[in-house]
Amino acid sequence: MRVAKFGGGCLREPDDFINIATILKEGQPESTVIVASAIYGVTDLLHNSTIFALKSEGSVSLSIANIRTRHLEIIEQAIENPSIRDRVRISIERRLQKLERLLYGVAYIGEVTESVWVLILSQGERLAVDILVGVLINQGLSAEALESEEIGLITDCVFENATVNMPKTRSNLQEHLLPLLDEDIIPVITGFFGCNDSGQPTSFGRNGSDYSAAIVAHCLNAPALDIWKDVTGFMTTDPEFTESAAPIAHLSYDEAAELSYFGAKILHPRTVEPLRGSNIEIRIRNIRDPYGFCTTILPDGFAKEDVIKSVAFSSDISVLKVRGAGVGFTSGIIGEIGNRLSGTNINIYSVITSQTCINLLVDAKDAIKSRQTLEPLIGGVIERIDVSDDVALIAIVGEGVITTKGLAARVFSAVADVGVNVEMFSAGASDVAYYFIVQQDDMEIAIRAVHRSFFEVLQ
Ligand code: ASP
Ligand code: MG
Repeated sequence: MRVAKFGGGCLREPDDFINIATILKEGQPESTVIVASAIYGVTDLLHNSTIFALKSEGSVSLSIANIRTRHLEIIEQAIENPSIRDRVRISIERRLQKLERLLYGVAYIGEVTESVWVLILSQGERLAVDILVGVLINQGLSAEALESEEIGLITDCVFENATVNMPKTRSNLQEHLLPLLDEDIIPVITGFFGCNDSGQPTSFGRNGSDYSAAIVAHCLNAPALDIWKDVTGFMTTDPEFTESAAPIAHLSYDEAAELSYFGAKILHPRTVEPLRGSNIEIRIRNIRDPYGFCTTILPDGFAKEDVIKSVAFSSDISVLKVRGAGVGFTSGIIGEIGNRLSGTNINIYSVITSQTCINLLVDAKDAIKSRQTLEPLIGGVIERIDVSDDVALIAIVGEGVITTKGLAARVFSAVADVGVNVEMFSAGASDVAYYFIVQQDDMEIAIRAVHRSFFEVLQ
């Protein structure tokens, strides 16, 4: 048995849906459980529709019309059988009606709670699984659409970054899914969200259906989890920066987690979390080249000769510099900062401290809010808070980066040779990764320099 996750990039065109059916048929008799995300671009449409609804009631009908068109064109072109097509259309209309009411609710009330927000965003996956099941049935497969609440995918109450309750979810999923598999029915489950104990939907954040799929794979003890994308798997760096970026055949769970955390967009950073302690093989597969190259991710790592597997980066970060003559030597300061930021749902990526400055890495979109949240602390030990937002992070990932002598020197001399200044770096927090901060304008040239030094010169 395998769990297969199809992301939005695999759910763009009518033909994509038919390709999925072909892939499933070719994989038979092995049974499959599918986790699907929303059709390409639909979560963004839902997001924008909510923002527009907050501003004007008049936007709602236009938003619904857009979302309807997007889905109907796929139904029309990918489902030939008229009775299956009608059935799917009816269920889509029922969902659109509910969505329309929700959006009007938002427009009239003028605000949107976290749970309503997630309920609206989750409609993308609910619409997608109905259509996918219609297409699979039209192609002669047996399949059933399942919403996360229905099968008891239980989480905590953190609405936009929920964590699964594994013991409860495991027994619920086994109870609901195993009988379907016994009857050769393909369960097609909504990715991206679960629900709390009271049944309110909670999401795993943007691109969270990778995490959903990992939960399902773990709960069903599946030997393999296929994450289908519309690109090749992990690469040695972003191919936009250098032609010599190459695909990576094998990574460890830790390497994949760190690469995703530090900006590689291929996998949700929390995907391996539910898989810890299992022996599940993750394969990143390309829907445009189904039997071609794939990156395989396994629990344990291996050090490759030249250690570094990939150079990841993120320019969506800012550094918050909390300054004061004695911040490093005063107890409780970091705790206080952490409490205040988590109270406003701001995540701290990393902290680097000295006696006179605490540097916090935060998401660029949170920078201003972070400073505002911490401003009341100015006046005591904290004297000033600055934000550097013209910075970028470059991460070096590979089993052995921390323990290999001379590696850091090689990285930094490559960067120095192209005249780039390293503003800050952090090593040791992870066994397989370290990162450094440069000016945003220098990011590309620094990435190219490191990549050249490890992946081009010695080949
Ligand atoms: N549809 C959601 C998003 O676009 C979840 C996912 O694609 O994994 O973020
Ligand atoms: Mg997506």
